[in-house]
Amino acid sequence: MFRNDVAQSSSLDPVGTPTRAQNYGLHSKSWVSEESRLDVQVSVHPGILIGASMRTNLIRVAKRIARRIIGRPIVGRSILVYHRVARVDFDPWNLAVTPNEFERQLCKLRSKTVLPLREFARLHIENRLPRNAVAITFDDGYACNALVAAPVLESFGFPATFFIVSDAISRAEEFWWDQLELIFHARGFEYQTATHLLPNRAETKRYAALPDKRPLTPFFAMWALLRDLSAEGRRRYFDQLRDLMGLKSELRATHRPMTVPELRTLASNPLFEIGGHTATHPSLPTLSPAMQEQEIVSGSRFLEAIIGKPVRSFSYPFGDWGPTTHDIVMRAGFECAVTAEHRRVTASDDQFELPRRQALSRNARMLEKEDIPAASN
Ligand SMILES: [Zn+2]
Repeated sequence: MFRNDVAQSSSLDPVGTPTRAQNYGLHSKSWVSEESRLDVQVSVHPGILIGASMRTNLIRVAKRIARRIIGRPIVGRSILVYHRVARVDFDPWNLAVTPNEFERQLCKLRSKTVLPLREFARLHIENRLPRNAVAITFDDGYACNALVAAPVLESFGFPATFFIVSDAISRAEEFWWDQLELIFHARGFEYQTATHLLPNRAETKRYAALPDKRPLTPFFAMWALLRDLSAEGRRRYFDQLRDLMGLKSELRATHRPMTVPELRTLASNPLFEIGGHTATHPSLPTLSPAMQEQEIVSGSRFLEAIIGKPVRSFSYPFGDWGPTTHDIVMRAGFECAVTAEHRRVTASDDQFELPRRQALSRNARMLEKEDIPAASN
């Protein structure tokens, strides 16, 4: 998820917010859970605590725009972003693509020129990018990337870049948004109690005032509040809440991040590149410049020490970035950086603000449209 700290759009996307979301009138990512997600995006946007009828109209308009975007084919020069290749029951951000669907999507890419991300960026800068060029990326570092996606990619001979949250692979715990899911679905979960324990609980008033009674509204509200905590603050909060609810911390095989040996194996394949995604996956523009640098640089250094290779590509957590973040990434020696703005790359795009398109099960048809010229410039 990415959020442009200039645009100041309020993203609830765990992976990134489009940098120019306003171009579409809504977030470019997480097309799925259209119903709940778009509703949340509209309803929790600061300053848009509005009446039910106006909200309904906004939701209708947002859905119409989303349908138009989802239906748009990849017309070339696109960077795809995946998160998980897995079959999961609860996927509010629509981050999972089933293994069969993933393979089907890769089949559709056979007629495209699939490039390693940095080569894609390099040709883009040199104005030599083939019109049907595609790059494949993964965010966060779920184990399924290494265990499920990588072998399929290899069978197609397709290169891919995996952006890894460095802290996640050194800890035996799930990503915080998956921990939240377990707590949210546990018997005895009570929104008022759960939010009362939050250090930033004053913010809950914003959500408590919502007339919306959809089942996932409390989940998205908690997600938004937890996103603004530090990694340690969230860890303390979850421990406290689990104690109160009598729950144990879990590490599900279907949800776990990859391990250090899995990362090492993935990185040893010449088809694959490991990219930086910070140490703890914060919303970078909310941090001081020094803390942003620390997150960006220490995350990559940690990965480099494990894989024994330089880390030269970067993905903004939540898609959140701004001019300061951009400059830090540039100065840190990265060759390119990607956002979560859901559109193809255009000639004017900065190499540190390359947009990506979410290739999800529900919008797979965009990969089916064969209106990209096959292998030409
Ligand atoms: Zn991420």
